Amino acid sequence: MTLDPDYYHYERYRPQAESGGALAAYYALKPLIPRALQLGARRLYAHRQARRPFPAWPIEPIALELERQRLRALLLRHRARRLAILAYWPDRKRFAFALTHDVEGPAGIANIERVLEVERKHGFISAWNFVAEDYEIPAGVFELLSDAGCEIGLHGISHDCKLFQSRRRFEAQLPLIHAYMSEWGASGFRSPATHRRAEWMHELGCLYDSSFPDSDPFEPHPGGCCSIFPFTFGDLVELPITLAQDHTLFAILRARGIEVWLRKAQWIIQNNGLINVITHPDYLVSQQRLACYDELLGFLADQEGGWHALPREIALWWRARSRSEVLGAQPQADAWSQGCGPCAPLSGCVAWLSERDGKIIVET
Ligand SMILES: [Zn+2]
Repeated sequence: MTLDPDYYHYERYRPQAESGGALAAYYALKPLIPRALQLGARRLYAHRQARRPFPAWPIEPIALELERQRLRALLLRHRARRLAILAYWPDRKRFAFALTHDVEGPAGIANIERVLEVERKHGFISAWNFVAEDYEIPAGVFELLSDAGCEIGLHGISHDCKLFQSRRRFEAQLPLIHAYMSEWGASGFRSPATHRRAEWMHELGCLYDSSFPDSDPFEPHPGGCCSIFPFTFGDLVELPITLAQDHTLFAILRARGIEVWLRKAQWIIQNNGLINVITHPDYLVSQQRLACYDELLGFLADQEGGWHALPREIALWWRARSRSEVLGAQPQADAWSQGCGPCAPLSGCVAWLSERDGKIIVET
């Protein structure tokens, strides 16, 4: 294992052969296979996928360990017992969370109101990603969402999952991607079925992408960036998806409750990370699934120190943060930061780093 975070962010550990073989054959034939059979095949295969040694699912701690090593080295370099560093989140928040939805078709559109209702109950807002040319988006849908305080994002031009198949295809689609994002006022992209290619993401030309799970062995592109923090591909902010997708949890793994979500969310909170939730209105149809979503939101609402924000706000914060630094490293000096966009007062951007009993502590 290497100490370079990019090795994980760019998924350089993935064998090239993974995009071929049985998995590729299955996804090439998928449109011809009846839906019930598809689900059966994925369920059979899922048990094997869940046991992949790396990245471990649902929790892969390697990138977090690297971050701890970086912080430990910082303390050593400054010969400090306590050091001012840039906080992960504004306003002394301990962790951040965002709610996102990918709309797969007309059934999803028809269910938007019911999902919004659950979020309203908790005072939450969310981001909605639409596919541009696969289905009709009725007039008034975007207005309904923006009136509710929500964000609109792009979930591909088509859900055929071919965007990253070749350079030619990618370059041919880029102008359309830019045109739709500008027309929709969208600042974020979520690739269909989380297909992705780290080296090309910055060319999307938007504020952020959210197509990289931290760890997800169940998608057509298995793997993940291993990070529970945002990071950047050039100027583009990547907001990793850090909880299992609803379809994976309920349809493939056939979970009856949300223990997997809660266990992972607790781990992220303990480690000051980003809980980035992805659910689909197309699959949150039964009362039972809506109740599961409601339970997750109730859990998040009960946590102390959570920053609930839209993905675009989190991306803006992270971009400003990655361009800032704390000046004045000692606590007794006037620690302050520069270039912090969305946070005021600036002192809210500073966290205190120390080491106790061999454990790295970050306090806000
Ligand atoms: Zn999708």
